[in-house]
Amino acid sequence: MAKLDEPLRNLLGAKTAKVLASGLELHTVGDLVHHYPRRYAQRGELTDLDGLVDGEHVTVMAEVTKVQGRTIPRSPGYLLEVTVSDGHGTLKLTFFGRKGAWRAEKELSPGVRGLFSGKVTTYRPRGGGRPQRQLTHPEFRVLPEEGSAGAAAREFAEEIIPIYPATKGLESWKIEECVQIVLDQLDLGPDPMPGPILRRHGLIGLGEALRGIHKPRDWGELERARRRLKWDEAFVLQIALAQRRKAASALPAKPRPRVRGGLLDAFDAALPFTLTEGQLQVGEEIAADLSGEHPMHRLLQGDVGAGKTVVALRAMLQVVDGGGQAALLAPTEVLAQQHYRSITAMLGPLAEAGRLGGADKATRVVLLTGSQGAKARRQALLEAASGEAGIVVGTHALLQEHVQFADLGLVVVDEQHRFGVEQRDALREKAAGGRPHVLVMTATPIPRTVAMTVFGDLETSTLSQLPSGRAEIKTFVVPPERPAFLARTWERIREEVAQGRQAYIVCPRIGAQEDEEDDAPTPPPGPDEEGRRAPVAVLDLLPRLEEELLTGLRIGVLHGKLPPDDKDAVMRRFAAGEIDVLLATTVVEVGVDVPNATVMVIMDADRFGVSQLHQLRGRVGRGSLPGLCLLVTDAEPGSRARQRLDAVASTTDGFALSRLDLEQRREGDVLGAAQAGRHSSLRLLTLLKDEELIRTARTEATALVEADPDLQGHAALAAELAVMLDEERAGFLEKA
Ligand code: ADP
Ligand code: MG
Repeated sequence: MAKLDEPLRNLLGAKTAKVLASGLELHTVGDLVHHYPRRYAQRGELTDLDGLVDGEHVTVMAEVTKVQGRTIPRSPGYLLEVTVSDGHGTLKLTFFGRKGAWRAEKELSPGVRGLFSGKVTTYRPRGGGRPQRQLTHPEFRVLPEEGSAGAAAREFAEEIIPIYPATKGLESWKIEECVQIVLDQLDLGPDPMPGPILRRHGLIGLGEALRGIHKPRDWGELERARRRLKWDEAFVLQIALAQRRKAASALPAKPRPRVRGGLLDAFDAALPFTLTEGQLQVGEEIAADLSGEHPMHRLLQGDVGAGKTVVALRAMLQVVDGGGQAALLAPTEVLAQQHYRSITAMLGPLAEAGRLGGADKATRVVLLTGSQGAKARRQALLEAASGEAGIVVGTHALLQEHVQFADLGLVVVDEQHRFGVEQRDALREKAAGGRPHVLVMTATPIPRTVAMTVFGDLETSTLSQLPSGRAEIKTFVVPPERPAFLARTWERIREEVAQGRQAYIVCPRIGAQEDEEDDAPTPPPGPDEEGRRAPVAVLDLLPRLEEELLTGLRIGVLHGKLPPDDKDAVMRRFAAGEIDVLLATTVVEVGVDVPNATVMVIMDADRFGVSQLHQLRGRVGRGSLPGLCLLVTDAEPGSRARQRLDAVASTTDGFALSRLDLEQRREGDVLGAAQAGRHSSLRLLTLLKDEELIRTARTEATALVEADPDLQGHAALAAELAVMLDEERAGFLEKA
């Protein structure tokens, strides 16, 4: 009998094991039994051949309708063409050469059904005949003939055939054979899931589930198998998260209760607007957390423009009032600089401790970024270490080891989607004597199930309403079939500028140099279709704007390759209204806040992801002026890219769009664990569809960890958890 960690070569032989390892990264018995079929075919139902996509490796079930062999003139070659059909569409199979064609000719004759596996190509006859989909030299397996009539035949027709994600040299049916060999000898040991949990949720045993997913006797059995295996994925993940929460909440932290008559009160009194109900309520939640003896771990989400910064600043001031320091981390230098500017502006005299005109109980705010000058940096480091600076604003540079704080009480991480769990952990290490409180803010509103998994170690607060008086943002697609729209786009910019407003133009590339990683942190989902021209670049568009499209307007350029001082200068001038049009890369994606800007033009908009477009669009319509967002694209009507753009244009609901974004990505990408060749531990679970199951698993997991934090009474479960953590070692659950 074989255990889960047994190498496959012991059961399947070295040769097969080698193909499984190199082609599919399957090494152990456990790997193979968790390599689930991609889909299932029923013998009575043929694969829809119309749905085949060029270049894909497919396995189809079809019936042979025609077999035609012929010699090739003036060559010793021999060509066998077999046509198979699903009842309406056809697919041509071609076999060249006597040897290759021989077995096909012998086994394939009209009426025979089989599985055919190979790469789909399209054959276009010279002289313009109808293009024909084909598989060249496919692997195939003939399905045995139907037996006698009656019950046996019906059963036969209903047999479910698993179709596996295959690889070259290992067809689906060969994988099926390997799986069956392994399942026959599998020794699972005790079920990792506690019996009471299985009974409470009507779940079947693990062995039964594994057999059911690989070789279901009927669809009901398959459904039960999937439910059990999904449960395991959700539950084990939630156990890991519950353990993290428990460990974190057991740590000591210095309580920072609200102090009356302090900085926070002075700030509130001077605030030029009234806080929304949501801001006040979340403020209370945070204030209560900060007063506790254990560190806060809270996620604050809210759509673009919901006003998260003020909430964070108020939390920081409470901590400063309590004698501590607060650090604010931003994903980009541009955003860190902007936070620094807006926080000092909002605080006014309250940020000028020790300076002429500074208020009595004032503090200091310093900026710390990776590429600032040595002198400014030294000064900032000094003020952070001495405690003079109550608020330290920075980028990832703050994570570097030599940054010291006198008494770090709170870490605020802005626009979380760029910060992994490991980085949050690294910052927590910076607090001497207890852990700092942590507040994480998301750029993109995320569906609850994602919050429960990706950010499952955090408590969640949501700002669901925008501050009142916000004007609307209108979004339009500027498509290739309407060239007049593009001309109108430039005109609209000129009109807005004539009224004293400002505009952004965003391009996917900087241009001139190739190494642009800085500016493209979130690549658009999906593969680049072949043969597309390079995306529009800032430095290529600039001369055209200056000389032709927007002559006479004051155009500023912002991208990741500029020196930090230049970036800061450009943003300041834009904020001050000295620049009309800011031509930029996605460095303006998150957080940038210039309320006088009313137009956002996004070039090659189809190159960006849905959430990214939503973020970019959030740069306009921030004040009382209505915003206009124009999505310029070459994508053809009806294409997937156009559908995404239409979706962005049709709603300003960030939650709805983030669901759409999620649907179009692989789960692994969402969890940040998608590395080439690695398997995600989430194979069956889909974050969007399995919300109920995830929620139940979370409740059960939390209770179990509460009762048995180290899983001492649940050895088999602990082992399964260890396997998952191992798989995710480089992924999102990694501990510091
Ligand atoms: P985000 O949640 O996207 O980070 P910000 O914190 O940048 O949003 O806030 C967007 C804008 O709204 C800022 O200019 C901010 O000063 C303003 N703002 C925040 N709260 C309010 C409020 N209660 N009333 C009016 N304006 C507000
Ligand atoms: Mg923000």
